[in-house]
Amino acid sequence: MNYTIQEIWEFLKEVEDPEIPVLNVVEMGIVRDVQLEDNKVIVLITPTYSGCPAMHAIEQDVREMLVEMHIEDFDVKTILSPAWTTDWMTDEARVKLEEYGIAPPQKGSADKNLLMGKLRDVRCPRCKSSHTAMVSQFGSTACKSLYKCEDCKEPFDYFKCI
Ligand SMILES: [Zn+2]
Repeated sequence: MNYTIQEIWEFLKEVEDPEIPVLNVVEMGIVRDVQLEDNKVIVLITPTYSGCPAMHAIEQDVREMLVEMHIEDFDVKTILSPAWTTDWMTDEARVKLEEYGIAPPQKGSADKNLLMGKLRDVRCPRCKSSHTAMVSQFGSTACKSLYKCEDCKEPFDYFKCI
């Protein structure tokens, strides 16, 4: 094994989220752990939204990255419990998401008000106005809701909390 665990984490940061190409699978919180067993690399991943068709693509992309780094002995394991939550996304990922034009999920996804759809202060990613309204539960994909900014009049996606 020619790499340290830290270096493998760095490689995995090259793996983009299939739905949001500005984010990588590490800052999304999808990669839970990287372990070395003898000379075998074990990568533990947790799927994001179960409805997202991208999930198999992520596992495939992680495998391809390891092959590309000439790591021969590896295993990518999917762990379903505890379930992925938007709270696992790094702060950096939230900033990038907003720059990309998608309102980032609010922290504290366990909050009942959020689950009931009573969102507070979903900020417009363009003009930063909090004067926004939900247009539809479903945006461009099932993991996003469509919002509209009342100030700049632009529609935008909000990345739902789970
Ligand atoms: Zn706006």
